[in-house]
Amino acid sequence: MTEPILPRIRPAIAALAPYRQGKQAGPEAFKLSSNENPFEPLPSVVDALQRTTPINRYPDATAGRLRERLGVRYGVRPDEVHVASGSVSILHQLILATASGGDEVVYAWRSFEAYPSLPLVAGATGVQVPLTADARHDLDAMAAAVTDRTRALILCTPNNPTGPIITASEFDRFIDRVPADVLVILDEAYAEFVTAPDAVDGLAARVFERHPNVVVLRTFSKAYGLAGLRVGYAIGHEKVLDAARTTGIPLSVTSAAESAAIASLDAEDELLERVAVIVERRERLVAGLRALGWDVPDSQANFVWLPTGERTDEVAAAFVAADLIVRPFSGDGIRISVGEEESLDRVLEVAAAQR
Ligand code: PMP
Repeated sequence: MTEPILPRIRPAIAALAPYRQGKQAGPEAFKLSSNENPFEPLPSVVDALQRTTPINRYPDATAGRLRERLGVRYGVRPDEVHVASGSVSILHQLILATASGGDEVVYAWRSFEAYPSLPLVAGATGVQVPLTADARHDLDAMAAAVTDRTRALILCTPNNPTGPIITASEFDRFIDRVPADVLVILDEAYAEFVTAPDAVDGLAARVFERHPNVVVLRTFSKAYGLAGLRVGYAIGHEKVLDAARTTGIPLSVTSAAESAAIASLDAEDELLERVAVIVERRERLVAGLRALGWDVPDSQANFVWLPTGERTDEVAAAFVAADLIVRPFSGDGIRISVGEEESLDRVLEVAAAQR
């Protein structure tokens, strides 16, 4: 059979692979591969979904109700809030808005799997700065990687997939070394799981006021358990967020997502109690793995990192064989989300057998 002639794809895009999820879990398996929230949605959130505007109508393109609500929550004006279909969309919008051919985007590696494609899709170049030996951002090296072509820097705290935070004093020292016209994205997707008192919290510290080049990213996907509805937000300078609103696809936040996010903010205390349960499970998992001799970095998120190196594929297969769907990064390590209570002992059993 002859191959059909297809439209020409930009070489930078043809060289990339589409985003892939971890394996889907069967009915008996625990899905610990996507850092999701293991709890069922709250009845009040399901109720809000059912009462959403009729689906024959378009949503509010500005997600005004949610932006207003988040503005009150964080003491900023609604224009200093931007909402999109997941914080990953906002990452794309901000990079498209700041970087193009010949520009550079600096980020730590290993970090969130979506980062490498962001500069490439924009036609820019990604500059990866290796993590330190204890799986943290090397902020001195990241500041030193800034050139006059750098247009954006991404910091991930806690870092996905390794878990450690950036401290407030580390961040303050770093930001003073970054030129004021370079965008700094503080990706705090897992902020609600952080218990370390010295962690940077871009919203509590209002870093975007002192540094208008900083945008803080948060999401409803993790702590608030709305991953399937796709809704994330950014807080920062109105003009920087206007640029993200411009590059974004219009009307991509559905009315259902907006309603569920507002209902989740209404039920925040209850949701944060669940977060505390996940944090307690995380601490048990880290302590259990360390007791087995695994060199697990400090995690402040809803996942833990098992540094399995060359044995990664083999160890991941053992987890899958025990109906534990985890996320392996070949040659490096395995990320295990903190899931259902019943999954913990099973994770520790496999980790013990693989030690
Ligand atoms: N940032 C980080 C660090 C993440 O780990 C994720 C999700 N895996 C996201 C952003 C994107 O989350 P969402 O698009 O669901 O808001």
